[in-house]
Parts: sequence; structure tokens; C-alpha cells
Amino acid sequence: MIDALVIGAGPAGLAIAAALGAEGLKVVVLSPEDWRDPWPNTYGIWGEEVDGLGLAHLLEHRWSDTLSYFGAGSTDAHDPANTPTAHGRDYGLFDKALLQAHWLERCELAAVAWMRGCATGIELLAGRSQVGTALGEVLEARLVIDASGHGSALVRRPSGAPVAGQAAYGVVGRFSAPPVQPGQFVLMDYRCDHLSPEERSQPPTFLYAMDLGQGRFFVEETSLALAPPVPYATLKQRLERRLAHRGVEILVVEHEEFCLFPMNLPLPDLDQPVLAFGGAAAMVHPASGYMVGALLRRAPLLAQAVAEAMRVNPAASSAELAAAGWLALWPPELRRKHALYQFGLEKLMRFSELQLRSHFVSFFSLPSYQWYGFLTNTLNLGELLAAMLALFASAPWSVRWGLMGMRGRELKLGLRMLDP
Ligand SMILES: Cc1cc2nc3c(=O)[nH]c(=O)nc-3n(C[C@H](O)[C@H](O)[C@H](O)COP(=O)(O)OP(=O)(O)OC[C@H]3O[C@@H](n4cnc5c(N)ncnc54)[C@H](O)[C@@H]3O)c2cc1C
Repeated sequence: MIDALVIGAGPAGLAIAAALGAEGLKVVVLSPEDWRDPWPNTYGIWGEEVDGLGLAHLLEHRWSDTLSYFGAGSTDAHDPANTPTAHGRDYGLFDKALLQAHWLERCELAAVAWMRGCATGIELLAGRSQVGTALGEVLEARLVIDASGHGSALVRRPSGAPVAGQAAYGVVGRFSAPPVQPGQFVLMDYRCDHLSPEERSQPPTFLYAMDLGQGRFFVEETSLALAPPVPYATLKQRLERRLAHRGVEILVVEHEEFCLFPMNLPLPDLDQPVLAFGGAAAMVHPASGYMVGALLRRAPLLAQAVAEAMRVNPAASSAELAAAGWLALWPPELRRKHALYQFGLEKLMRFSELQLRSHFVSFFSLPSYQWYGFLTNTLNLGELLAAMLALFASAPWSVRWGLMGMRGRELKLGLRMLDP
């Protein structure tokens, strides 16, 4: 009998399979594609986060010159509207092949088994889970862990409000002039002097950009989150205009990135007999869009909880095992924090371009440990609340009014913090 059947071989699937294997469980991973196939996305992470995990050797690039622009911008380089906000923190980009190999090696050591196939449904029979595949096979396991990504159809979650997506269009390539300074990483460039007043009243977008060395750069026009998301065509056009405005032309396109993932997916129902991990479990940080650090930190904790539940009661049903897993993955404190982040995101999604830029000036003026802990979800609930209150206290009134008024489902989301 399989102890744990993991559905999906993306970062979440490999992270949890490796961790469950390390607990001595019999693990099988089911995925439509070869689990060694290269992943389409590249993953960024803060330096301190990856250092804390002891995994800095998995980075392909690391920048110490990290900054953002929250001024409106102008063509005069000395104009204060072009003054950057220095972050004073390292940022890194994973070598995605190394990250994948890191998890695959651990899976191999733990004798994790692999199966090609696409899960179509999960049923319970005599306390065990049965997964049907597109080819008609049926796989039985003590527990199923859905790691099939943000669009999973295998886990239940409340439906209702439209899901807001972070959308981005990016280019890895060569340019007529450096789009960012050599050796630099730009987290958010909100300068918007290339847009007409009418365009500036549209949903704001920013540039995320980095020097990849040897004359190559990655530039990406990004929207924080919106429902429906900002179309790729708009992002592409805005990127080209932004670059042209600064006298930069794209000469060679090596790779185009089309990025879209949900930022405010509701938490899955925590009473279902299927467990989930990664995008399927709404683990993307609702404010920053990051998840890989959380996968690396939380997979071992979740695996320990599941293995313990299996050891304590060898006859435990899938529902009992999943309940132990859900509690470990989404304990009340994390659910409260998730509610707070979603509440904050809802506010930001309504902000005008001017409010957003002012908000980020205040946010990155917080003590470094506060904004960093906010973005990496490493503050406890009290610390997170303190950071949000400090942010409110230091924000200009234009932002405070925006934070105070309750519109749409904001009140409901805020109250979820009390009863997550
Ligand atoms: C373009 C992009 C850039 C991102 N950048 C970052 C970043 O810089 N840093 C960061 O931390 N996060 C980033 N994210 C967010 C998040 O980390 C990623 O979306 C991440 O890939 C999610 O991992 P996952 O394993 O949950 O899902 P996925 O990566 O989507 O993997 C899901 C896997 O499940 C398989 N699958 C799907 N359905 C089935 C089925 N029915 N049966 C079997 N298998 C199935 C798929 O084939 C795939 O292998 C980014 C996301 C995107 C889209």
C-alpha cells in the first residue's frame, strides 16, 4: 500500500515528496510529464531567506545592489522623481535545474517512485483514497496530497469572489543599452512618466528587472493583482514604451515569460480527506506572490505531522490523516495571517497609482526586519499586526484614508482574521 500519493511534480510536488520520503514513508509521485523535465518558470527569493535554509548554493544569480523606484519619474536623471529606494538586502534567482535536482536527489535517496499520468478524480473507499487517472488506472493510497498547482480541480475551496491574478510579461534578452544598471536588481520600478494621464488612471503596473550578466537582462512588466488580470498585450506594450522612453530597445529576445497566477485564492476546505501543498493549497503569499521559500520551510513540518499521524494510528483513514496534515499546514495563526494579507491585498488592488507609490514609500521605510518579515511571511501574528499598524501610522493621509474605508468584501476579509 502506498502511504502517500503526491499529484504533480512541480516545486510543491517534489518538495513534499522528498520530505515525506525522508520520514520513511512509501511515496509515489504522479505527473503527466517526466518529473525531470525542466520547469517553465524561474524563481526568485530574498538572500536572507535562502541563507537561512542553507541553500545559497542553489542560486544562479545574487544581487546586493537591490532597489525600487516609487517616484513618478522624469526624463531628467537628477530629478528627485527618479530617486531610487535602496533595499539594502540581497536578492537571488534560483538555478531552477539545481533546485529541481536538490529535491530529486532527496527523492531518490528515499526511494520515491514515479508514475506518468493525469489524475482525474479522487474517491474514498473503506477509509483509503483512490485516484483515477485519465488512462483509467486506479491508484490506492493511505493519503493523497494534491500538488497540481493553483488551478487544481481536485481540492475543494469556497467559491464566490473573483480570483485576482498577478500577471506579467517579461523578456530575457539583449538590449541597445542596459535597462538597469550593471549588477543591479530592481524589485519594483513604478515610474510612470511614459504614460498619459488617462493611462495613469488605469491599473498600475511596474517593472521587475535584473542584470543577468554578460550583456543579458531580464525585464518584466508586472501588475500586482487584479480581477480580471491585466492582459498580456497591455503589459507587453507598456514594457516596450517604458524601455523606449528611457532610450532602450530590445535587440534580441532569448525568452519570453507569460506569468499569471492567483494571489488571493481562498484557503481550501480544511475538512476534506485530500491534503494539498503548494499552489493547490493557496500557499502563494497574497502580498508578494512568492512561495518557494515557504515550500522549503514548510514541507518538512508537514511531512513530520503526516508521518506522526500514520505512526500513531496505523489504521488511520485518509480523512484522519488529511485532518492532521491540514492542521499542520494551516494552523490558526497562519490562517489569521493569511486573512490579514488578503485583507491588505484587497486594499492595494483599489489603490490609484499615486496611492500605491506613496504606500510603498511608507512600506519600505519600515525597519528592514519588518518589511522583510512581511514579504516572506516570517513574522508571527503579533509582529505582523505591529508592522501593519506602524505602516498605517507612518503613511500619508491619502493612503490612510484608502486603508480606513471599507469597500466590497474588505470588512468580511478583515473579520476572517478573528474567525479564520
Ligand atoms: C511565471 C511565474 C513566475 C513565478 N515566480 C515566482 C518566484 O520568483 N518566486 C516564487 O517564490 N514564486 C513564484 N511563482 C509562484 C509559484 O511559486 C509558482 O507558481 C510555482 O510553480 C507553483 O508550484 P506548484 O508546484 O504548486 O505548481 P506548478 O508549478 O504549477 O506544478 C504543478 C504540477 O502538477 C502537474 N499536474 C497538474 N494537474 C495534474 C493532474 N491532474 N494530475 C497529475 N499532475 C498534474 C503539472 O503538470 C505540474 O507538474 C511564480 C509563478 C509563475 C506562474
